[in-house]
Amino acid sequence: MSKVSIALRGWRFDEDDVFEDDGELRPLDEMPEDTRHRIIRLAHISGDACDACWLIHGEAEIDRANPGTIVYGEPMAEVLVCDEHEADFLYWFRDAGGSEYAGEAEFPDRFHEWFAEGNRAPEDYGGLDHVQEETGAYRFHEAAACGLDDVTADLDGTAAVGAEGDGLAEGDGLAERDADEGDDRDDPDSAGPDDVDLDALDL
Ligand SMILES: [Zn+2]
Repeated sequence: MSKVSIALRGWRFDEDDVFEDDGELRPLDEMPEDTRHRIIRLAHISGDACDACWLIHGEAEIDRANPGTIVYGEPMAEVLVCDEHEADFLYWFRDAGGSEYAGEAEFPDRFHEWFAEGNRAPEDYGGLDHVQEETGAYRFHEAAACGLDDVTADLDGTAAVGAEGDGLAEGDGLAERDADEGDDRDDPDSAGPDDVDLDALDL
């Protein structure tokens, strides 16, 4: 089964998991769960600024940041970097302890901290060769050409993701996840502040 990337390099999918025989993107509910999560996340973050550029320029000058082209990590705990900053990310991951956080929620924050402290890959860091070999081994699909933009449009039309699309914020994915957990705790069946107040009055 051949591998494909969509919109951003980095995450790869089994072609049959994401595309129908006619080349159209499959409906999300027909994709394996992990694939679906990544595709939805891709639809959110494609077009967002590179994390490293964002740290350099800040929100006020976000238009000077390059769009991210490569995504690493897990959905909601990913690092998005541009071609210029890929070497810095790879150096951090391979040679500066970053791999220790692979798969962890703090993965992007640890990279951001390292980068914000002024750390960079050495000049002529050789780590890219390996990646470029890898990237040559699978097909790359533009988001618009394969229908991912339609997924984005559908998602933007739902209230649940209304906060997305406001540019890249450090740890925004984690904040979103925290918010989701908060919603769970607000389950109307559980005791809320109003119940506590009533109990106090009874006393
Ligand atoms: Zn960048």
